[in-house]
Amino acid sequence: MNGDADATPAVAASGEAELLTACPLCGYVLTGLPVEHNCPECGFAVDRRWEVHGGLLGARVSRKRWHIGKLGFVLFSVYVAIWVIVILLVPLPRFDRRMLMVIMTAALLLAGWVALYRPRQFIALGPAGLVIVRSRKRVRRFAWREVGHAQYDLLRKSIAFKSGDEVVRIKVFNAFGSDISAVDTCVRAINQKVRVLDSR
Ligand SMILES: [Zn+2]
Repeated sequence: MNGDADATPAVAASGEAELLTACPLCGYVLTGLPVEHNCPECGFAVDRRWEVHGGLLGARVSRKRWHIGKLGFVLFSVYVAIWVIVILLVPLPRFDRRMLMVIMTAALLLAGWVALYRPRQFIALGPAGLVIVRSRKRVRRFAWREVGHAQYDLLRKSIAFKSGDEVVRIKVFNAFGSDISAVDTCVRAINQKVRVLDSR
């Protein structure tokens, strides 16, 4: 989203340029479709005026981070491969050798999953309010007046804001994967839109 800063404002004024071009849930191309409609591919009710944070589109926006993740995975694979060779060469009792192989393989799979995980959940900031989409069926909508100041809760690894008496949380990993800078951008974007009510 930050990369759009130097886009020509003349184009943006025409309308279509400022709207979502892909469904945030399934990635289907939405160009030319009405502002509010159901995605022809997955049926999800999309508002093309949404500013989407996290999820499929978020991962696409931060393509650079995606490549860094892949590079990290490749390097880690090489590291594990070297370890496996070392384990095979070093004389060890058969059981220990097998255990080490299992542990290294599990570490490799876990690292790969974290590096290549594409989060599906997202937060959409629309003209009317904030929408949290966990899946097509698990959608929560909040009017802007119901949304309190948002913050990144490091301890619980979530974005949290108050809505009435409830503390609403969005698990960071589910929406942003390991892209922590996107979390910060999202929190700031929410707070920019929230009308700060001077409560005390
Ligand atoms: Zn869709």
